[in-house]
Amino acid sequence: MSRENGNRKPPVIEVLGAGPAGIAAAYALARTGKADIEVLERAGAIGGNSASFRIDDIWCDYGSHRFHPVADPHVLEDVKRIMGDDLLLRPRHGRIRLGGRWIHFPLKPLDALVKLPRTFALSLLADSFMGRFRKPSPGPRTFSSVLLEGLGPTISENFYFPYVKKLWGVEPEKLAVKLAERRISGNSVSRILLKMMRMLPGLKGKTTGRFYYPRQGFGQISQKMAEAARSHGARFRLNTEITRIERQANRVTGVWLRDGDKQVRRETTQVLSTIPLTALVALMDPPPPPEVVAAARKIRFRGMILLYLVLECDRFTEFDAHYYPELSIPISRMSEPKNYNGATAPRGVSVLCAELPADPGDRWWNMSDEELGKHFTRWLAQVDLPVNVPVRRCETRRLAHAYPVYDLDYEPNFRTIDDWFMGLDGLLVFGRQGLFAHDNTHHAFAMAYGAADCLDENGQLDRAKWESLREVFSHHTVED
Ligand SMILES: Cc1cc2nc3c(=O)[nH]c(=O)nc-3n(C[C@H](O)[C@H](O)[C@H](O)COP(=O)(O)OP(=O)(O)OC[C@H]3O[C@@H](n4cnc5c(N)ncnc54)[C@H](O)[C@@H]3O)c2cc1C
Repeated sequence: MSRENGNRKPPVIEVLGAGPAGIAAAYALARTGKADIEVLERAGAIGGNSASFRIDDIWCDYGSHRFHPVADPHVLEDVKRIMGDDLLLRPRHGRIRLGGRWIHFPLKPLDALVKLPRTFALSLLADSFMGRFRKPSPGPRTFSSVLLEGLGPTISENFYFPYVKKLWGVEPEKLAVKLAERRISGNSVSRILLKMMRMLPGLKGKTTGRFYYPRQGFGQISQKMAEAARSHGARFRLNTEITRIERQANRVTGVWLRDGDKQVRRETTQVLSTIPLTALVALMDPPPPPEVVAAARKIRFRGMILLYLVLECDRFTEFDAHYYPELSIPISRMSEPKNYNGATAPRGVSVLCAELPADPGDRWWNMSDEELGKHFTRWLAQVDLPVNVPVRRCETRRLAHAYPVYDLDYEPNFRTIDDWFMGLDGLLVFGRQGLFAHDNTHHAFAMAYGAADCLDENGQLDRAKWESLREVFSHHTVED
């Protein structure tokens, strides 16, 4: 980007966080030449929860990550253009364990018909038939009541309820309806059946049952987008600790960072924040009103430990992911990274990645890699996948902010915080962590593009446009 357009000095925009949302905002703004952009990232690498790294020369992600073809067309077009030949369109080939049997996931009609336990299939059909006669339960509406109403007991009790209990560590009746709206796209038996029908040859679209995936791990999308942003002049500052966000009355005026022993001030026109909402509240100086601080203490994120078991074999399974709704083992999903990009090299080694939902400080969080590795192999044996090949080691990574927890109280607390930030000038909050949303990466990109679109060449916000976009974002539905 040219720093000066004639005599005009471009506005200074500080982007907080270099996950997909922060990177896409930097890219979208830098390519228009609208602003002088600096991205501040606490970690030593970019990509946030969507980053990739190598273990024994195999590209690995923070758990199973796919780029979903349902992305907004302009987001998808951009990703395809930036990635070129490095973006692969891959068939989904996973399995889910239901009633002790493996069934293809996403569900396929014939496979489900043959493999689902007969009693389970019959109960499902009965639930579908009885759906029209089901009465709403009299108590307050919760995640569990809307699922029982829409889907009936068979799939709710055998699949969704244990799965959410494992993911959030909270009983389904203590989770908010919003979770069902944001995370469950097939919220009636007929919709699930319709989704399955679309998997039939002849009814299949070009991308049905497929996903986009880069050759060098999911994080290559963020890497390439950051390169494109840099080529337009955006700067990325890693390993950076933001110490405070300066506010004068209703306007954010600067960001302070630690630079060695010194505190450095960046004067800004706009701050675009994609860091966790709770962290943002803590950085505000002066602090927000007490009710906002109290609300921030009441919302929380669920963490996740990623366990990477390094095995001496070309491939452990032919499947990309295994889903485990059952409560008998604590991992929710296991993926084999080599099966995402179809890599044939390196030979003689493969990695299995297990997703273990946990909270910082709990018994899993503080366990050694070796101990976690022993548990992992035990869990696999329990689900008929014994590890009969040499194990090199188990490595782990920990995400403190994997999923926002939508308990029954989260909504008014989130609203209190969000309303206060929405009332400030010079600060725009978005991204999965900023809006406490269960969004996919393509949603994070769409939010970032939207934010960039709402800023004029002086860095001033079109507030009405941003408010209407926020309404659109609130209808994002997560793809798994
Ligand atoms: C297990 C798992 C599986 C997933 N699977 C998929 C999938 O298949 N497909 C899909 O599209 N999405 C998937 N997602 C979601 C995807 O990871 C997110 O949508 C995406 O990473 C959100 O981007 P973001 O930039 O909003 O947030 P993040 O990726 O969380 O980035 C936030 C950034 O802010 C930084 N930060 C935090 N605090 C500070 C601070 N104080 N100062 C400076 N920087 C800070 C962080 O280090 C991070 O880089 C999955 C998520 C998880 C947890």
